[in-house]
Parts: sequence; structure tokens; C-alpha cells
Amino acid sequence: MLNVKGVVLSQTPVGEQDRFIDILTAEYGVIEVLVKGAAKITSKTGSATQLFAYSQFSLADKKHGRARILNSVSPIHIFYGLRSSVPAVALASYFSQIIGFSVLPRAGTPELLRLMLNSLHYLSEGTYPTAHIKAVFELRAASLLGFMPDVVMCRTCGTYLPAELSFSVEGGYFCCKDCRPAESMAHWIDMRAASLQAVRHIVLSDFEKIYAFRLGELAQEPLYAFAEAFLQYHIDRHFQTLDFYKVVSGGK
Ligand SMILES: [Zn+2]
Repeated sequence: MLNVKGVVLSQTPVGEQDRFIDILTAEYGVIEVLVKGAAKITSKTGSATQLFAYSQFSLADKKHGRARILNSVSPIHIFYGLRSSVPAVALASYFSQIIGFSVLPRAGTPELLRLMLNSLHYLSEGTYPTAHIKAVFELRAASLLGFMPDVVMCRTCGTYLPAELSFSVEGGYFCCKDCRPAESMAHWIDMRAASLQAVRHIVLSDFEKIYAFRLGELAQEPLYAFAEAFLQYHIDRHFQTLDFYKVVSGGK
């Protein structure tokens, strides 16, 4: 028997009665679980195994293919607020897809679980705009997955906080305006100091603080563009859930 806490990332019906769910755990990465009789189970089990529920799972040692079989489950936290916002649900699905694609079974991922739970909490509460939560998740997840941008200084001249700079999506480093190479500009995103400070804040701050910053409207766009492009480039995958989020959020 394995007792583990996890958040439900996805669910797939199998046959008429059962379904597979993927859960993100701190100790074992993403685990596939078979929920038998899902169509007729009690409402408690139903809510504890629904999408984005954070629950305590008790899993049998016996396996069905790769999947562990669910013995019992109880909810720890249900993010009820998600239900009232289509963009919030769409964004949570995008986060789930990123994790499902990037995290291997048996890889310990306590920080990624924490990032997911914090993001679900803020999406559910509506504490920050969805575009803000999205950028924080993308940059911090990229860093946790091994693609941390180099935010120290201009790669060429060492300036710490240039007024204007360009961030290389491909290289993951920045150059001040004076040092920026003239050629091959396709993967560079221009920004000012405030956006760079936000990138630094997201990748370097303690977990409790990563969402807590404010940016003027002009500084938001380059941050959002960089976060999305950087994650997508480095994990090398385009997610349909991102397209859906953009449709329901009006392109943000
Ligand atoms: Zn420079």
C-alpha cells in the first residue's frame, strides 16, 4: 500500500465504469492511477478524484499496467473558485499539461507540486490576473525543470541593471541595448529594467514571495512574452491547452 498526497492533473475514462487519473506528488513525480467504478462511486471519492483536486490517496501495490489501483481517497483541498472562471480552468489545464509532459514517474518534485498548488490557489481566489499567474508559473517551472535563465548581468559588458535590454529566448541570457548583437534577432525579446527585475524576482525569490510583485502595464507585455516563449522553447513542445486559454482569455 502506498499513501501519498497529490493533485489531479488529468483524467481519462476507460470503459464504461473506470477512469485513469494522473496525479502530481511530492515524492514520486506524476503517478498514473486507475479509479475503478468511477461512474458509480460516492460523491466523496468523486470530488477527491476530480480535476485539480488535492487529495490523500491510498494506492494498492497491485498494478494495472503502469497504473496503480486506487484503494481509497479523501480530499484535502478542492479549489472551488476555479469553477467560476473559464480562463482560470483553461490555465490550470495548461499548467497540468506542462507538468504531465515534463515530469517523469518516480522523480521527486516537491517544489513543482508547491508551485502547482500555489497557482491553483491564486487562480481559485482570483488574487492576481491570470496573465500574471501564468508568467510566474512558466518561468518558475522552467527553472525547476532545469532551464533557469541567466539573470545576473549583461552577458557582454556586465551591466547589472541596464535601462534597456534584450533577452535571448534561445540562450536564456540578456544583453544591454549597446551590446545586443545586430544579427539573428528572431529569438530576442526587448524589455526595460522593470521587466528584468520581475524575471529576477520570479526565478530567484523564495516560494512565498514569487507572485508578489507589481508591474506597470508597459513592463507586463515583455515579461509575459518572454515567460511563454522561454518555457515553450526549452521544453520544445506546443500545448493545445495554451491555444484554448488564449481563446477564452481574449489573447492574453
Ligand atoms: Zn552590455
